Amino acid sequence: MRAVLFHDIGSIHVGDYPDPALVDPGDVIVKVDTAAICGSDLHLLHGRIPGMRPDSPIGHEFVGTITQAGPDVQRFKPGDRVVGSFLIACGRCWFCERHEYSNCDQLWVLGYGMFTGDLDGAQAEYVRVPIADLNLHAVDASLSDEQVVFAGDILTTGVYICERAGIKPGDTVAIVGAGPVGLFTLMNARAYAPERIFVVDMAADRLKMAESLGAIPLDSTKVNPVVEIQRATGERGADVVIECVGLAPAFTTALNSVRAGGTVAVIGVHSDLSYDFPLGEVWRRGVTIVMGATCNVQEHWDKALALVKEGTVDPTILITHRLPLEDAVEGYKLFEAHEALKVILKP
Ligand SMILES: [Zn+2]
Ligand SMILES: [Zn+2]
Repeated sequence: MRAVLFHDIGSIHVGDYPDPALVDPGDVIVKVDTAAICGSDLHLLHGRIPGMRPDSPIGHEFVGTITQAGPDVQRFKPGDRVVGSFLIACGRCWFCERHEYSNCDQLWVLGYGMFTGDLDGAQAEYVRVPIADLNLHAVDASLSDEQVVFAGDILTTGVYICERAGIKPGDTVAIVGAGPVGLFTLMNARAYAPERIFVVDMAADRLKMAESLGAIPLDSTKVNPVVEIQRATGERGADVVIECVGLAPAFTTALNSVRAGGTVAVIGVHSDLSYDFPLGEVWRRGVTIVMGATCNVQEHWDKALALVKEGTVDPTILITHRLPLEDAVEGYKLFEAHEALKVILKP
């Protein structure tokens, strides 16, 4: 089959790779109809993910059709259309029993190297999905591939972090970062009927997209977003701030933008080992800090897909590029240069 293969840090290519076969009785093989490039695929390309096997398939956002199912698979059969979770949970450990799948002891990820299960990725013609009953979701026939392809990752991440942030009707919400996760968070936050949502970013096109989705854009290259949010709220600050960047200055902006007694929820992926945390100030103001960590996909994708089906969330508006799988290298270049918001690959 053809697949997007990780070669070395900074180097991917589209090449031939052996077709996957069933290994465990709970596996299925999925013929990938539509895949997407995720921001976390760039971490791998940039060498931040140890243990990548050279010339192995990458990618974990996909929708497709089952071609083979192992004898233990109960919920699916060949011919079923499915969307996959990036996170492959075991379904048996202490955390999985409590439906905390993102804390799974096993924590496998498709196409993310040998420390996360050494599973081949889904930017390919076919992919093997272990423990399929838990890690795939059936796709409603009325929904298109492009409406559901993000349900196993960033769309559901938006649903998950809004829920954890505890937005209430009438709240003032601020979202720091208008990349794909920030924009999905915005789309989902609207469903909680807040009074208003500020979105902070530095990229004009992304802020324009946020504005078209009903947010008040704050361009941090032109204004001080903290001052603007404080001014708009009678110097109180926002009730809920959701940080979708994953860099220390963005977290600081979030802390400075929230009101006393408010909540800062963090879904941006942080890798700094330490941070000069204003402990006394945050204690005095009684701020609740919710660290999102990895999205609990399997617990939230029902809700995400329901929001898409009822029309509350339209994931397709974030798709800026649609390319054949053979042109994936070009897609990665556009995505890396922020010239593309979401890139779809068609095997
Ligand atoms: Zn991802
Ligand atoms: Zn588990």
